[in-house]
Amino acid sequence: TRTTRPQRLLRAVIINAVRGDPDSVIRAIDHFCKHTEWAMNIGDEKGAILDSVVMETSPSTVLELGTYCGYSAVRITRLLPPSTRLITVEMNPDYACVARQVIQHAGLQDKVCVLEGQSADLIPKMAEMFGIQTFDFVFLDHWKDRYLPDIRLLEDCSLLAQGSVVLADNVVCPGTPDYLNYIRSNLNYRSRFYQAHLEYTRVLDGLEKSEYLGCRQGKRQ
Ligand code: SAM
Ligand code: MG
Repeated sequence: TRTTRPQRLLRAVIINAVRGDPDSVIRAIDHFCKHTEWAMNIGDEKGAILDSVVMETSPSTVLELGTYCGYSAVRITRLLPPSTRLITVEMNPDYACVARQVIQHAGLQDKVCVLEGQSADLIPKMAEMFGIQTFDFVFLDHWKDRYLPDIRLLEDCSLLAQGSVVLADNVVCPGTPDYLNYIRSNLNYRSRFYQAHLEYTRVLDGLEKSEYLGCRQGKRQ
């Protein structure tokens, strides 16, 4: 039977990364994706930007939409304060299964909950399932046409508080024009762009960091 790309990525982690060492798991995945098979992890270049935004936010509650193999989950979680947990949402059960094993290899299984299902179904259940009131940090990296509906859903469910930081990947490639237009023209957010390249390539891409200022006024115009 043929293996899938996530299964081959997991195998590279198990063979090459030191158990319990998140940095070596990250290095093993980056090496596999640069030299063997490209995969849609945030990667090392944009990953360094993700790291710095996580560190400056120092969040107590964190949500990631789009887990895939758990690469960014490992990156984020290794930087979290001791009591902080990451909730990460993945609709593909095979990817979620790989992600749990990658996270386990990094020794971070007690700090991460990989939730299987669609973001639109799970966002409204965060309060009931986890007792979450608001998220201090949200990382958007699922399908690009879901960024806009899901940020609006997070707002409608009152899951953002003043000072919450939303970081969105791939706002240039593949691009999220409706989301960027919404967030940049919205007086309830202060937004800035970090230019970089699509993971493991020279193609231009970037991240958009948007701080929620609290519900103030409607959209500009
Ligand atoms: N954040 C990961 C990283 O950097 O390591 C990469 C995530 S990958 C780009 C996007 C993932 O989002 C895919 O695994 C896909 O199955 C998942 N996904 C897409 N739309 C989703 C949705 N609406 N709800 C849950 N998961 C979704
Ligand atoms: Mg991405």
